[in-house]
Amino acid sequence: LRMTDAVADNKITVCVRKRPLNKREINKKEIEVVTVPNKDHLIVHQPQVKVDLTKYLENQKFRFDYAFDENAGNDMVYKFTAQPLVRTIFEQGNATCFAYGQTGSGKTHTMGGEFTGKNQNTAAGIYALAASDVFRLLSRDFKHLKLTVGCCFFEIYGGKVFDLLKNKSILRVLEDKNGQVQIVGLQEEQVMDDQEVLDVIRRGTDQRTAGTTSANANSSRSHAVFQIVLRKGLKQWGKFSLIDLAGNERGVDTAAADRQTRQEGAEINKSLLALKECIRAMSRNSSHVPFRASKLTLVLRDSFMGEKARTCMIAMISPGMGSCEHTLNTLRYADRVKEL
Ligand code: ADP
Ligand code: MG
Repeated sequence: LRMTDAVADNKITVCVRKRPLNKREINKKEIEVVTVPNKDHLIVHQPQVKVDLTKYLENQKFRFDYAFDENAGNDMVYKFTAQPLVRTIFEQGNATCFAYGQTGSGKTHTMGGEFTGKNQNTAAGIYALAASDVFRLLSRDFKHLKLTVGCCFFEIYGGKVFDLLKNKSILRVLEDKNGQVQIVGLQEEQVMDDQEVLDVIRRGTDQRTAGTTSANANSSRSHAVFQIVLRKGLKQWGKFSLIDLAGNERGVDTAAADRQTRQEGAEINKSLLALKECIRAMSRNSSHVPFRASKLTLVLRDSFMGEKARTCMIAMISPGMGSCEHTLNTLRYADRVKEL
């Protein structure tokens, strides 16, 4: 954990990850418009046409704390994003890691990893990698604290909270007199090792993708929140929230066909804007964090507050020309989050 300690000193880290073209895109001979020239820059080469119809590429350059190209694996991305924040929760702080981007850009691949076969996990995601480090620290550096670990996994859709470890039951969110926000009845599974965490991730992921009718959020339209909670006795010690956000294209899609889709888009848009404002307020040590502006930011309230709060955001990028506009939207958003 030592190598990347510098990252942990920043309240907010913003990174970008470009995924490789997939088989479908290669078959369609989709052109790549994104390059990563070095470890903190990313360039979008947007095809443009002049008035006289000559074509040219407009190059737009963005700088982030880290830029991962298509060759970076989840382990590499983890090392420079969430891993430096793990210590925070042992020091009684809260940490948060967001995956932001359009549907199909790699958010779930990065956060949840990919499950193949019956009991193996070929490409662990950030949920599992972070939990693994928590167990490592728990049994070594912080053994004397005698802490226990629990996991929660829920989804936010249409302003409602659904427990992914309890049959998607709807949960109420309450704010008490001291401003403490609670999700009433949220399931917290006690976990002792990597395998138990993988089981929880798999269970929640199955729930998330099960029965995608209009009443049941399709995973691209909901925010998924996976939490690793450290406790000393019953008391919460620290919490790491890892969030696979709803596809950001939903918020742009105002010309959507039906009312429900438009409403969903508006709700997602509202929560992503609120998120940006909260992260910005937090990184500036502002006394006013507008966390009440959406259910997403409300349930993450304690993660935004406090001296020791640390956040990282990973903006996911699809490399193809067909995604160019969404890619630029994602990069502009990430840029705003980073800028003070
Ligand atoms: P999102 O959750 O943002 O909608 P996914 O994580 O489901 O996107 O990714 C879409 C597809 O691209 C999946 O089939 C996934 O396996 C693949 N994919 C995403 N990122 C990568 C990557 N870095 N390397 C290889 N395949 C990836
Ligand atoms: Mg997804």
